[in-house]
Amino acid sequence: MAWIHNNIILPVLERERHQRLGARLRRLEQFDRMSKDEQLAEQEVRVKRILDHAYRSTPYYRRIFDDVGFQAADWKSGNPIPLPELSRDLLRANSHDLLSRDVPERQLRKASTGGTTSAPVVIWRDLEGLRDKTALQYHLNRWSGYDQGTRALHIWGAERDLALNPSWKWRLYEEGLLRRYIGAAGQLNESVMQSFLHKLNLHRPEILYGYAATTARFAEFLKSTGVVYHKPKHLIVTAEPLSAEDRAILEDAFQCPVTEHYGSRDIGMVAAQCQAGKRLHFHPAACYLELVYSGTTPEGPLYKLIATDLLNLGMPLIRYDTADCVLLDSTPCACGSWFPSVTQILGRALDNFVLPDGSIIPGISLTVILARSSRGFRHVRQIQLIQKAVNHMHIRYSAQGDVMEIQQELAELKKNVDQHFQISLQWSAERVPEILRERSGKLRLCISEISHGQRQVG
Ligand SMILES: [Zn+2]
Repeated sequence: MAWIHNNIILPVLERERHQRLGARLRRLEQFDRMSKDEQLAEQEVRVKRILDHAYRSTPYYRRIFDDVGFQAADWKSGNPIPLPELSRDLLRANSHDLLSRDVPERQLRKASTGGTTSAPVVIWRDLEGLRDKTALQYHLNRWSGYDQGTRALHIWGAERDLALNPSWKWRLYEEGLLRRYIGAAGQLNESVMQSFLHKLNLHRPEILYGYAATTARFAEFLKSTGVVYHKPKHLIVTAEPLSAEDRAILEDAFQCPVTEHYGSRDIGMVAAQCQAGKRLHFHPAACYLELVYSGTTPEGPLYKLIATDLLNLGMPLIRYDTADCVLLDSTPCACGSWFPSVTQILGRALDNFVLPDGSIIPGISLTVILARSSRGFRHVRQIQLIQKAVNHMHIRYSAQGDVMEIQQELAELKKNVDQHFQISLQWSAERVPEILRERSGKLRLCISEISHGQRQVG
């Protein structure tokens, strides 16, 4: 059945993201079967292709390459790319000059950078790149036995965003044939948890896929109620780092393997954890990684995750600073794969928010709200939301440029958060020069100062 979904139904029904999906998946399988030397050679070709394309077709890279006297042909696999890092601030300031002049406007699709570490910026992808990224995400899912047509429950997204999803035809297909069921996770409370439980027992999914912390809270809910519940064969969690405590809670509740996936709105889903070594491996067909030392933490040396996206010709991102930091283990991984790996991702730390009726707003769902900003954040650079009381939200932000524009961007953010919370919040704001990483290496987007006891669900 998976073959029919990948090769016929998906490419016809939802061509935008799935055209030639079957062929793309076969190419990725071929890549995985190659020897390490062949894979490195293939990756070198892809890196050079993106470097050359960026130099030829974008004003930004033409300038940067010429400044340092670098040419794509000079680069050899395994070496750093000798260009400055592309930070979110540089991206914000040069967004027009980063667009490829070779990709027609009608082939470009809007996305936005992730909102967990700084205010989101609009980025663009070419259509082929979008399809390659979709295929890569499905390919990583297949490593965990999740193919199209496998029964799966997704704990994901906010109700309102799901309602905006493609067409009624797509929704019918998704549940009826693809057998993918969605539990909306924009707000959590007893009745939402009961509805997840109902879907779990009704659909009996083989795969449970969801936000890491939210899925763990669901697992706690199941254990605390003492009810009989269906156990999937495999869990895939993503969007926020999986803590050791939450992993233990999930493994105990579901008695099955738990795999963490890493991706971001900027570069797409690019890494999946192996079972043998419990490390996150980055797929070399999707990105070229550089890890830059950036200090120590109680858990060991910290590295910045710098990625060159190999699947976006529309707006090439070379040496892009993902703003996520990682911990490493330099020994070979127990699973035998050479694909670059990290033991832990430390980039983001998100508290949950609590509403007057005790419902929970998962911090991760706020990233969707930030990305919803109609024009992106061009002046506000970083945001931190601090819940001081159930109806009081404090924003810390850093910004540059026109004060009116800054206020407009903040006003839109407040409006979107008010809508998401569905209560009337009191707001206060404080402008700071910069929001710094904590000693642990984490940047905090969402902080709740309400006592922990009040945050329990169910
Ligand atoms: Zn491994």
